[in-house]
Amino acid sequence: MRPTGRGILVIITVILMFFSVLLQLSGKNEEDSQNKTPEEKKSDDIIIETETKELYISLYNHWNKRLETLTLEDYLIGVVAGEMPASYGMEALKAQAVAARTLAVYQMPAYGGKGCSQHENADVCSSFAHCQEWITQNQMRKNWGSDFDEYFRRIQQAVEETRGEIMTYEGRPIEVFYHSTSNGRTEDVSEVFSNSLPYYSSVESYGDENTSRFEGKVTLTNQKFADIFYSKYGIKLNPKKLSSQIKINGYTKSGRIKEITVGGKKLRATEFRLLYGLNSTDITFEFGDDTITMKTKGFGHGVGMSQAGANYMAGQGYTYKDILKHYYTGVLISRY
Ligand SMILES: [Zn+2]
Repeated sequence: MRPTGRGILVIITVILMFFSVLLQLSGKNEEDSQNKTPEEKKSDDIIIETETKELYISLYNHWNKRLETLTLEDYLIGVVAGEMPASYGMEALKAQAVAARTLAVYQMPAYGGKGCSQHENADVCSSFAHCQEWITQNQMRKNWGSDFDEYFRRIQQAVEETRGEIMTYEGRPIEVFYHSTSNGRTEDVSEVFSNSLPYYSSVESYGDENTSRFEGKVTLTNQKFADIFYSKYGIKLNPKKLSSQIKINGYTKSGRIKEITVGGKKLRATEFRLLYGLNSTDITFEFGDDTITMKTKGFGHGVGMSQAGANYMAGQGYTYKDILKHYYTGVLISRY
């Protein structure tokens, strides 16, 4: 069928409308970029405003011991709720959402990841000691009580407003580590984990010292200290002379202990921390007549974003992107 004169007119009108919309759109982009500060223009973040395809994640749920499939974004609500206090600043929650999303995408086989090494066919597990914490809505209700509605809404907002965003370095999702509270400076990744990664340098962390988790203390009788050591390494310590049997061999750049010798056995401080259940490897020893006290600063391994520091930055008016770029050197915020 040949188009009539009227039909041709309609087609021309549609084409004209299409080009006028295109022109308006490109004008708007230009306007946006003119309004940006030089700092913002310099940023190379790759945010392509296409509709993000829904990604699914297979989660080993340790609460019911089952493998479950969830949308990535729904999964993240349970992670942010489990990993960070819901009362923290919105920009800190958003930084946590991006960090958690990056960790999940990094582990997905579809993105070249190896999944969770402890549970077959799972991209991630819900254990904070292995992949990252994930909690159920029931758990959230228990934790938050009457604040449930407000806290759930805040976490939903943090996930939704960063939808699809991950941290990348040279085009790949980065390997993410984060921790609760720093001792004032973050730890180089190679001091804790065997790999060295370019986006983890030791940086200052502010505001950690104002939080309840900053200072920790474990006091044991000398005998108990010696018993714990013996049960792990089979080496007998003299409980009356602990001070002469514990020697600090060196510190990392962040002021945490690197290596320690106990009863002639050399240990990485990370190993020593685990043995005595200490909050961090920033340890000072106090020797009493019958007791030994190990005082710590910070909570966690110290690598990557300090959640307490992120909350402090959020309170100072920094955005989640500022926070992430402070703790993860040289990363870009991209979409998966
Ligand atoms: Zn795992």
